[in-house]
Amino acid sequence: MAVYEFPFQTGKIALDYDKCQGCRSYACVKACSLFGRNLFRIQDGKSVLVSAPEEAKRLCIECLACEFYCREFGNKGLGITLDMFGLSEYRRKTRQRQPKRGE
Ligand code: SF4
Ligand code: SF4
Repeated sequence: MAVYEFPFQTGKIALDYDKCQGCRSYACVKACSLFGRNLFRIQDGKSVLVSAPEEAKRLCIECLACEFYCREFGNKGLGITLDMFGLSEYRRKTRQRQPKRGE
């Protein structure tokens, strides 16, 4: 599986090029040009970053439009992973506060 991945401030974007094969909409490119910062271009039939990943990390406004458009109009090759800041700590605290059965 060929995955093209880059981070943004609170997560990461991954393109699975196996799924991108055969995609003719390039909806991710369109979405980022319409709603984001125009971070993608098409090169050799693939959607790639126009700039270095560090630059994309700085520019991405985390609008999530690329993932939404890819799912709606593309081949579902793009996935966004978001960090859940503080979730582990929150779970630990709420577990401690829960009354034990029978209390
Ligand atoms: S829209 Fe989705 S499937 Fe199509 S090229 Fe972009 S990431 Fe790949
Ligand atoms: S989240 Fe928005 S700005 Fe960032 S790459 Fe996707 S469409 Fe572009």
